[in-house]
Amino acid sequence: MIKPPRRHTLAGLAALSAVPLMGTRQSAPRVVVIGGGFGGATAARYLRYLDSAIRVTLIEPKQYYWACPLSNLVIGGVRDMSQQRFDYSAMREAGVRVIQDFASDIDPINKTVTVQNGQSLDYDYLIMSPGIDMRWGAVEGYDEAASALMPHGWKAGAQTELLAKRLAGMKDGGAVMISVPDSPYRCPPGPYERASVIAHYLKTQKPKSKLIILDAKDSFSKQGLFKEAWHKHYSDIIEWRGRSDDGRVIGVSAKLGEIRTDFETHSPDVANIIPPQKAAEIAARAGLTDASGWCPINAVTFESGLQKNIYVIGDAAIANPMPKSAFSAGHQGKVVAIQIARAAAGLPPQTSVLTNTCYSYVTPNGAVSITGVYDNKSGVLSAVPGAGGTSPLGASDDERGYEAAQALTWFNNAVTEAFG
Ligand code: FAD
Repeated sequence: MIKPPRRHTLAGLAALSAVPLMGTRQSAPRVVVIGGGFGGATAARYLRYLDSAIRVTLIEPKQYYWACPLSNLVIGGVRDMSQQRFDYSAMREAGVRVIQDFASDIDPINKTVTVQNGQSLDYDYLIMSPGIDMRWGAVEGYDEAASALMPHGWKAGAQTELLAKRLAGMKDGGAVMISVPDSPYRCPPGPYERASVIAHYLKTQKPKSKLIILDAKDSFSKQGLFKEAWHKHYSDIIEWRGRSDDGRVIGVSAKLGEIRTDFETHSPDVANIIPPQKAAEIAARAGLTDASGWCPINAVTFESGLQKNIYVIGDAAIANPMPKSAFSAGHQGKVVAIQIARAAAGLPPQTSVLTNTCYSYVTPNGAVSITGVYDNKSGVLSAVPGAGGTSPLGASDDERGYEAAQALTWFNNAVTEAFG
């Protein structure tokens, strides 16, 4: 007996689970999922819930998943890293076969996945949710070795802890710099949430210090809300420089501790370089990426626009206007589970309404949010006019506090859906 994931918010789910899915098929379909993050883990568990006859295999190299959402609070010293850690035991209990290794190759013609240990797996449907890789070298001098000295903290785990450690080791009166790439990248408001919680840390622990955000863009997500919070709480700490104010970082020397923009060289005490990104490498190897480095998809089914029977969800997919977020990835995981269960049962694809909310902490106890509602009934993903919106400007500390509580509840629900 499979325990259903605790929350299932899609209206179609209930309808679908009433469909006699085994009706038209000869043998149990095999689904392989690559990547056990928010997208892949949610899809794997929901597939088992929708149809326990489907054989689901998850390939994920890491024994523990370190969640990015709320990891900025760890960097700001107000959350423990252990609260970011999840494992795959509930996945196994749900009947998913978990292979703890890298998927090293995909053959879309013969429908096989090769695992690094040499094992080969046949699939009828393949779900790809491998997340992102950094574009090393896109910021001159910023490669993997440089990230050991100037952490990105954009994949949670060791990088998160390294950035927190460097901040803790910085003298009072030091300068922190955060370099933000041009869009698209994982978690559009994430750099500004990070700036907020680091500024709180500086204000309370090292009040003579400064934080400069060097941005490759001239505007950013929830800008009005962030700027209001910075003005209210950190006006003498945070400075934001947009692209037209020489904010774009073009190179670094990690050994010298230098950051270069078009017109200046900076020497901060702590440098947090968030580099440009692309779909994780396995996606390109499988022929799923276009010239942008991301994966085009069919907006209704999330099937790849380039390879049949392969579905791409989460950060790796081109799903705009949905942002690259854990909320989006989890929601897409449920949609793709429905579409594959329907396809396996001989049923046609179903259009859906999707949502995303990105919460951002502006203080340890206060958050702001942006919500979007999207549909795909026209064959492309588009924002539903008049739906969604942002937190109000000028809200009280209590209202920001309610949003912080909602952010925590969202996180607990999302990780329960993905990891049990
Ligand atoms: P991931 O969660 O990265 O999972 C990908 C998995 O694939 C990884 O476990 C990886 O090991 C595995 N993998 C990669 N290659 C292979 C391979 N070859 N074989 C097998 N497995 C492979 N989102 C929100 O919604 N709310 C937030 O508040 C929020 N805050 C954030 C804060 C920060 C600082 C950051 C950096 C991100 C934040 N995000 C937030 C974004 C969120 O973390 C990502 O959008 C989300 O993790 C994407 O899910 P995914 O499944 O696409 O990728």
